[in-house]
Amino acid sequence: MRDTTLLQLALGLAPPWAVSRSDFDPEAHRLDIQIDFAPGSRFACPTCGAADCPAYDTERMTWRHLNFFQHEAYLNARVPRVNCGKCGIRKVTVPWARPDSGFTLLFEALVMTLVSAMPVKAAARMVGEHDTRLWRVVHHYVEQARARTDAAGVTRIAIDETAARRGHDSITLFVDIDQARVLFVTEGKDAATVAALADDLAVHGGVPEAIGEVCIDMSPAFIKGVAEGLPNAAITFDKFHAVKAINDAVDQVRRAEQKQQSLLRGTRYIWLRNPANLSDRQHATVESLPTRHLKTARAYQIRLAFQELYDQPSAEAAAGFLKKWYFWATHSRLEPVIDAARTVKRHWDGILRWFDSKIANGLIEGINSLVQAAKAKARGYRSTRNLKAIVYLLAGKLDFRLPA
Ligand SMILES: [Zn+2]
Repeated sequence: MRDTTLLQLALGLAPPWAVSRSDFDPEAHRLDIQIDFAPGSRFACPTCGAADCPAYDTERMTWRHLNFFQHEAYLNARVPRVNCGKCGIRKVTVPWARPDSGFTLLFEALVMTLVSAMPVKAAARMVGEHDTRLWRVVHHYVEQARARTDAAGVTRIAIDETAARRGHDSITLFVDIDQARVLFVTEGKDAATVAALADDLAVHGGVPEAIGEVCIDMSPAFIKGVAEGLPNAAITFDKFHAVKAINDAVDQVRRAEQKQQSLLRGTRYIWLRNPANLSDRQHATVESLPTRHLKTARAYQIRLAFQELYDQPSAEAAAGFLKKWYFWATHSRLEPVIDAARTVKRHWDGILRWFDSKIANGLIEGINSLVQAAKAKARGYRSTRNLKAIVYLLAGKLDFRLPA
């Protein structure tokens, strides 16, 4: 078999395209495959699809293709421009690459596979390309796949923010709870982000009014955003955020008390954990403390009791439990705990809603840590646009329709 025939079969080229020559430069580690079309070939207009357009002129183009063993491989061709009666002069689309890409489709498929497993920069180093070229590929496929996202039938959404860049900015993630996928990502963490989600839903066949359940933290911005943008959604306040509000109060009590009680130094993480999660050493520390006389220990007991709320068998039982807990907490004479209890009181319905909806942000927290881990590995992203693309790539369950 001649090498041109072999390459033609391997590339899967069909008429009018054929391999005309190949040049291998072992020193440059480079294989160049020349592709040409048969003289007199006719092409379809890339704009209107009209068949049988004659070539008007040609332009030489080169595409990076999958490596040939350890050598870089490139396809080279003169690409015809056709003169379409309707559209004028148009460059034809070649079957092995997207218009205006310097990579073949198969090379782009390799890039997309690499970047789902490693930072774009690492993938760029691996294939010997600049990472801005790879980012262009990532954005193209993410945008295409995002455009095809089907949000029809989405009824339950979890909303949470995550740090974007240098800890200042945030992005808000909207997760389709039932399909465990990120539906939408946007900058900011205010009410407008929920409005943006509602618009995006509508664009993708979803119905904002059909969203019946949302899970959010207790921030006023999200509450307002949901009321305005998702008018039929019942709010469940995420239980981890609710517990965290009490936990923060415990930490405040500890910080204040530590100023008088040096015994409390170095115990911060003990009070943030559940007893079952303490190490042997932490257990020993707790046993050595005069817990009966410590405000911190009292605050801690109140927090542990709050967690028991979620073990109640029904919404009615939980409402009764919460009332008793509230009485206890507000009579604790511990200011931060009283404040936290009042916060709970203001969000009572949404906290108890959990007993009907059983939705929490555990899923979104998992996605969050995935995103933050990727961000750390990449040592941050040059732009929020890049970060958003990575969120969709890792957690959007998008169909990139990559060639196999
Ligand atoms: Zn045309």
